[in-house]
Amino acid sequence: MDLKIAGRTALVCGASKGLGKGCALSLAMEGVNLVIAARGRDALESTAEEIRKRTGVTVHTVVCDITTPEGREVALKATPHVDILVTNAGGPPPGDFHDWRRDDWIKAVDSNMIAPIELIRQSIDGMIDRRFGRIINITSSAVKAPIAFLGLSNGARAGLTGFVAGLSRQVVKHNVTINNLLPGPHATDRLGAASQSIATSTGKSIEEAEQYLLAQIPAGRFGLPDEFGLACAFLCGAGAGYITGQNLLLDGGAYGGTFG
Ligand code: NAP
Repeated sequence: MDLKIAGRTALVCGASKGLGKGCALSLAMEGVNLVIAARGRDALESTAEEIRKRTGVTVHTVVCDITTPEGREVALKATPHVDILVTNAGGPPPGDFHDWRRDDWIKAVDSNMIAPIELIRQSIDGMIDRRFGRIINITSSAVKAPIAFLGLSNGARAGLTGFVAGLSRQVVKHNVTINNLLPGPHATDRLGAASQSIATSTGKSIEEAEQYLLAQIPAGRFGLPDEFGLACAFLCGAGAGYITGQNLLLDGGAYGGTFG
């Protein structure tokens, strides 16, 4: 299927590894040129080289912390025309709500709510002028079904989701869509951190913690970054202009509600 986005430019944040990398690769396979951002240079350069070799598209790298105003400035400067924006950064740390103080909340909201909103604010007017824009926010299944030890994530991401629900309806008439992808457990570094957290709080081994997570997934396996990326690319396709304001779960059936 040709998604008819070859030659477009995407800014993909948090793209050196995991789900962001999966999105970057799938877009590149459709012929989309990329600017990819992450904090660590080595993994970012190696991902860029891998994508160039596999797809032949242009890939620029920006080493930055996308949760800071300075980081966003350099990333956006490197992407004069953002046709496709994928917002993504590390999730807030797990823990117990008794321990979270104002500073912890501000940090979580800054990283997982305000950073994507700022990236959207600074790139959306160009999309509206050019009558094409696709914005994907990588959030979490926790937006639909809260995970107790990830309370900072539950709260901050719900704020982003609420804001995007309104904005997406304002801009869709310009062929600019905004959708959220909600990962359940995927086989990435972040999953290792979640397993570690469960192991620490329950006294299980890491393997037992992973089995505990797996037992809750009807698919019987963790998701793969590449299949996550395919969903992202589809929503960024030229033909996806009528899909907006949606929260798409990619969780192997783990969410138990009758209506998604
Ligand atoms: P990952 O494998 O750890 O990859 C995260 C990527 O984002 C890396 O490229 C990382 O590179 C980059 N990154 C992190 N913080 C950044 C920052 N401040 N500025 C720029 N780049 C940053 O994580 P993942 O599994 O792909 O998760 C992506 C998002 O999905 C996270 O918010 C996570 O909480 C959420 N999520 C994941 C799962 C899952 O099972 N994997 C489930 C639910 C939700 P650097 O560290 O070098 O910056």
